[in-house]
Amino acid sequence: SQKKYRNFPMVPRVVFGNGSFDQLGEILMPRRNHSEAPFIFLVDDVFEGTGLIDRLPVIFNDQIIFISADEEPKTIQVDAIVKRLRDEFTELPSGIVGIGGGTLLDLAKAVAIMLTNKGSACEYQGWDLVHRPSIYHVGIPTISGTGAEVSRTTVLLGPEKKLGINSDYTTFDQVLLDPELTKGVGKEQWFYTGMDCYIHCIESLNGTYLNAFSQSYGEKALELCKEVFLGDLSPSESRDKLMMASWHGGMSIAYSQVGVAHAMSYGLGYLLGVKHGIGNCLVFKHLDEFYPDGVALFDTMLKKHRIQLPKNICATLSESDFETMINVALSMEPLWENALGSNWQKTITPEKLRAIYQKI
Ligand code: NAD
Ligand code: ZN
Repeated sequence: SQKKYRNFPMVPRVVFGNGSFDQLGEILMPRRNHSEAPFIFLVDDVFEGTGLIDRLPVIFNDQIIFISADEEPKTIQVDAIVKRLRDEFTELPSGIVGIGGGTLLDLAKAVAIMLTNKGSACEYQGWDLVHRPSIYHVGIPTISGTGAEVSRTTVLLGPEKKLGINSDYTTFDQVLLDPELTKGVGKEQWFYTGMDCYIHCIESLNGTYLNAFSQSYGEKALELCKEVFLGDLSPSESRDKLMMASWHGGMSIAYSQVGVAHAMSYGLGYLLGVKHGIGNCLVFKHLDEFYPDGVALFDTMLKKHRIQLPKNICATLSESDFETMINVALSMEPLWENALGSNWQKTITPEKLRAIYQKI
C-alpha cells in the first residue's frame, strides 16, 4: 500500500519583535465576536502586579485569570477553568490568550479545546481524539525552550497518565514572540527550559523518524542553542536567538518525535511532580549510551553556566515507585521507537530503566 504522510497544522500567524506585545490589542480586535464574548487572558501569576498587566488590552468584560506555574498543568485544572467560564458567561469567549511558559501555553490550548468539546480534558489525552474545532487561541511565551508555542500538543497530567492532547485543533491560531518578555527569567530556569529545546534537537536529530523537514529545523535550533549556551552573545541577542531556537526545536519534533530523555522525564514528572525542563536535564545527564555527543556538550554547558543539578532524587523511592515511573516511561512507545527503531524492546528493559533512574 502507498505510504501515507501526515498533514500537520502550523501556526498561521506570528509576530516577532521586542515590544510587539503592545500590538496585542489591534491583533485581537478583529477577533472579538461581540461585546458579550470576552477575551480570557490566562497569565502566569509571576506577572501579577507588574507593568505587563497594565499593558494587557482588556476591554468590555474581558477577564484576566492568574495561574501559578509551580505545578505542571492538570486535566482537572483545565476542567475547572472551563466550568468557571461556562458558569460566568452566557456566551463562548471570543478567544483565550495564554501568557507565560509551557505551563500557561498548554493550559490556554487545552481550555480553548475544552470550551467546544464535551466531557473532561482527560478523555482527549492521546492522538487525534479531538473532533470539534477549538475556539481562537493565542500563545505569548515569556520563557523560551519548550516549543509549546508551535506544537500541536498540550501536555497534561491526568488521573491516569501524563500525556498530551495531540490534535489539529491544539495548535495556536496566533503567536506573539516578544523576546523582551523573557527578561525576568532566573538563571536556573533559563537553563532548564533552554535545555528542553537543546534536548528536543538531540532527540529529533538522532531519531529514526528523522527526515529532511525535521532535520532542517533541528539543525537550525541546535546551532542557535550552541550560540546561546556556549557563545558570547549580548543579553538581547541571546533572548532573540533562544526564542527562535525554541520555535525551530518545536517545528523539528512536529514531524519526528522526542526520545529517551522525554520518555523517562515523563516518569519522573508523573510520580514526583518533577518539572519538564529540570526532569529532562536530570535524565539526559545519564544517557551517554544513547546520545554520546549530545551528553558531552550538555556537560560543557552545565559547567560553563555553573548549574548544579539536584541529586538523590530517586534515593528513597520504593519498589512500586520505580515500577510506576518505569511503566509511565515504557508507555511512551512512539518516543522509544523514534529513539531506537521498531525493535526498541530488545534494548530497553525495565531493569535498564531502573538502573538509570537509580542514578538520578
Ligand atoms: P513553566 O511555564 O513551568 O515556567 C517555569 C517557571 O518560570 C515558572 O516558575 C514561571 O513562573 C517562571 N517564568 C516564566 N516566565 C517568566 C518570566 N518572564 N520572568 C520570570 N519568571 C518566569 O516552564 P516551561 O519550562 O516553559 O514549561 C514547562 C511545561 O511545558 C511543562 O508542563 C511541559 O509539559 C510543557 N511542555 C509542553 C510542550 C508542548 O509542546 N506543548 C513541549 C515541552 C514542554
Ligand atoms: Zn520537551
